[in-house]
Amino acid sequence: MLKSAIMEGCETPLDLSPDTAPFQGEALPSGRRRAKILLVDDNGDNLVSLEAALDGLNEELILARSGLEALHHVLENDFAAILLDVKMPEMDGLETAEIIRSRKRSRNSPIIFLTGYRSDEHLFRGYDLGAVDFLFKPIVPEILRSKVSVFVELWRSIEVQKAQAEALRKSEQQFRSLLEAAPDAMVISKEDGEIVLVNSRAESIFGCRRDRLLGKNIRTLVPYWSAQDFAASEGAFADLMARRSDSIEFPAAITSSPLRTQDGVLITSAIRDVTERCKAEEHIRQLNLELEKRVTERTAALLRSNEQLTQFAYAASHDLQEPLRMVVSYVQLLEKRYKNQLDGTAVQFINYAVEGALRMEALLTGLREYLQIEEERSIEVVDCNLVLEVVRRNLEAAIRSSGAEVTSGGLPKLLALEVSLVQIFQNLVGNAIKYRGAAPPRIQVSAERRAAGDSSCAEWLFSVQDNGIGIEPQYLNRIFGMFKRLHGAKYAGAGIGLAICSKAVEHLGGRIWAESQAGQGSTFFFTIPEKKAGQ
Ligand code: ADP
Repeated sequence: MLKSAIMEGCETPLDLSPDTAPFQGEALPSGRRRAKILLVDDNGDNLVSLEAALDGLNEELILARSGLEALHHVLENDFAAILLDVKMPEMDGLETAEIIRSRKRSRNSPIIFLTGYRSDEHLFRGYDLGAVDFLFKPIVPEILRSKVSVFVELWRSIEVQKAQAEALRKSEQQFRSLLEAAPDAMVISKEDGEIVLVNSRAESIFGCRRDRLLGKNIRTLVPYWSAQDFAASEGAFADLMARRSDSIEFPAAITSSPLRTQDGVLITSAIRDVTERCKAEEHIRQLNLELEKRVTERTAALLRSNEQLTQFAYAASHDLQEPLRMVVSYVQLLEKRYKNQLDGTAVQFINYAVEGALRMEALLTGLREYLQIEEERSIEVVDCNLVLEVVRRNLEAAIRSSGAEVTSGGLPKLLALEVSLVQIFQNLVGNAIKYRGAAPPRIQVSAERRAAGDSSCAEWLFSVQDNGIGIEPQYLNRIFGMFKRLHGAKYAGAGIGLAICSKAVEHLGGRIWAESQAGQGSTFFFTIPEKKAGQ
């Protein structure tokens, strides 16, 4: 039964396959495994002396008193060496060796025969059965030890190789499982494109069985695949057309990365079918085109109607000027000629009429000025210090009569429209004088450069600060609208100055705002983006 179990080799339930017990031997504290050595002799004294001779090797010695007992141990263990007495009752050493050799697992266990006498017949049969050596009794312990230690070393190096092979097998298995789990088709090829490995996703994407894909060139799947291109853009995606086995082409995103192995370079290509993504992108592109077309059309329509409105407003303000002049002239003539025939109330009414007409004339002039702000004049380098000089001259009478002081830190030179800057400064400084408090106006004009932020370019921040009557904060946004006035009754004006400033600043690409508290003066801020020549 035992004999037949051994003969059947790996199929027996007792068999320990390399997967379940790859390493034999007990571990020593040093991490070194103890090799197992089987000593077989029917004579107990001989066994004791063999054991004593090998004791110093510090390996695991297993003793057997018969061939059958030895076979039993062979079933359960891997031996670094088997020392086998040739002459034993029932099953002699040669017969035992024959059975050991017949088993796949123990076929390569080195057997050293121990024999009392030299017999050529034994020697031939012994070597025939795969004996690696013969030792003649009486055994010399030193010789026995040195022979056995050679086999132990051999066993040890084989164990190391087995461990390495096992580790390699495991990592290869992991690699294959990873490859199979990948959501993309994974194709591993040689540098010339010959496919050596694919995963199941590759089978489904390309509609072709794995065995048919192996050995083919990857260019039959991706015609423009190029190892050099991929090496140059390591890890980057390339969008290429791929071809199924039924010749249907589809867009694919491909990444390839080279792997240097002992057998040369292998290239792993991850191929993803991006048909849906491309369809979605195309759809978005179409939508964007459509949107762009609509925006262009709407913008053109808006520009047209804006232009018509501007022309209308300009023509109206211009054409109304003449009849208005006539009203003023005739009412004034009326007052002059018939002053003596009219009573005081009638003269006052005439004055109101003249005043109203003059105010209306100022409104029309302001409106025309507003409409005339030019958008398309080319910008030039403007020295803001000179601009402020011009403004001071233009406002000379008001400055003198109010005792105003207009001071400025050094102002910059920048690319802008000079007329616009004069308009802006003149309106702001003029207002600072006009809306003064009890004290003479003190007006400070400053500028500071602000560096470019993440999404904005560098710009100049200007400020005009006064010590006038101030503005209640809730009205600060309204004052930049057309004809919007807060202190209308007491101060002359058409409510157009700040609207002009706002439009002019906007045309230069900037923003305008104010900070103020009633009775505490105001500061008007505006920005002008720094332009480079040619922008
Ligand atoms: P106008 O001065 O002709 O009324 P603006 O458009 O220049 O028109 O100004 C709008 C309103 O903003 C003014 O009527 C005034 O009430 C307020 N305002 C403008 N500048 C100042 C200032 N420096 N201090 C106080 N109020 C101001």
